[in-house]
Amino acid sequence: MTTKPALAIDGGRPVRPATLPYGRHRVEQADVDAVVRALRSDWLTTGPAIDEFEAAFAKTVGTPHAVALSSGTAALHAAAFAAGIGAGDHAVTTPLTFAASANCVLYLGGTVAFADVRPDTLNLDPARVEACLTPRTKAVITVDYTGEPSDLDELEALCSRRGLTLIEDASHALGATYRGRPVGSVARLTTFSLHPVKHITTGEGGIVTTDDAKLAARVRMFRNHGIAREHHHREDWRYEMTELGFNYRLSDFQAALGLSQLERLGDLIARRRQIAARYTRAFAALPEIEVPVTLPDREAAWHLYVVRLRLEGLRVGRAEIFRALRAENIGVNVHYIPVPWHPYYERLGFRRGGWPVAENAYERMLSLPIFPAMTDADVDDVVSAVDKVLGHYRR
Ligand SMILES: *Cc1c(COP(=O)(O)O)cnc(C)c1O
Repeated sequence: MTTKPALAIDGGRPVRPATLPYGRHRVEQADVDAVVRALRSDWLTTGPAIDEFEAAFAKTVGTPHAVALSSGTAALHAAAFAAGIGAGDHAVTTPLTFAASANCVLYLGGTVAFADVRPDTLNLDPARVEACLTPRTKAVITVDYTGEPSDLDELEALCSRRGLTLIEDASHALGATYRGRPVGSVARLTTFSLHPVKHITTGEGGIVTTDDAKLAARVRMFRNHGIAREHHHREDWRYEMTELGFNYRLSDFQAALGLSQLERLGDLIARRRQIAARYTRAFAALPEIEVPVTLPDREAAWHLYVVRLRLEGLRVGRAEIFRALRAENIGVNVHYIPVPWHPYYERLGFRRGGWPVAENAYERMLSLPIFPAMTDADVDDVVSAVDKVLGHYRR
């Protein structure tokens, strides 16, 4: 006779009465007040709150320039444009990311190549990137997967040797540091997303940081139709459209929200680090779990906490574990389906099997809930549910 509790998926009682999501934004009264003040001001878009938010963000990441845009995807598009990617050009990125990291190259008429990742951090492997370069490669787009910074010095060295621009998609990594430097001040161009699941939010929003005034000016122009001067900085009626840009502007009241949220970034990151440490301690005793790897010369920002299952110790696959945890009301997720596996990319000619490290990791991974408002009891519920489900399916 077993005394093990029945899994919720088999009709047993779930570990939690209601779903714990994998990520969740936090809006406080100070944020609401800041947005209301902006709504009552003279500017609803591209006004003083944008300037303030950009200045504060640049200061936070320790670089001279930050340009706010309407989404993280717009930020990537603008960065790829600023890097000089045009029709027929090539760029290299990772397969283990959200599609936007690669789509930005296609928007500009370019072609993307995917380089495989390191087996430990699952970030781009610089040696694999090198093997993907062609005479038409203009940029490398690295992604700080889960918030662990990429091998930025190696990638920057590779890029400067070959005359390429390094774009760092740091959508997961606001608040991370690399060899003592904040992410946002290391690569030529860094992009962030301000979507509600990310570290701070403006609803929808994104931002590009750079130490290069010319690149910043190109991003700024791209966000405003390719027009050189912006409305609230304009003295007379003359303006010139010199590039084909977009309307990728962020609203002033969104910038006010971002500025208010940015003030709490330190606390938000500290809490994410505590949650990650609590998971890692708890899972040390579970043989079926590989915990995320972080390297000693960088501090992760923990947008995601991704474990890999040791499937050889289990009677079922990742899909069954995923469904059983969802039934326990643990909002697990998977980040990411490799980008070249998507039907759109398959139509471009990409075939499965080209990125064995990323693809093997994908088959075994689960993102566990992590967001600053989680209590220790919430973390312990996740650990109990994982323990319960893996115990049930153990060989
Ligand atoms: C969230 C995210 C994006 C896109 O950001 P949006 O603000 O949703 O457009 C791009 N890349 C990565 C890695 C992301 O996680």
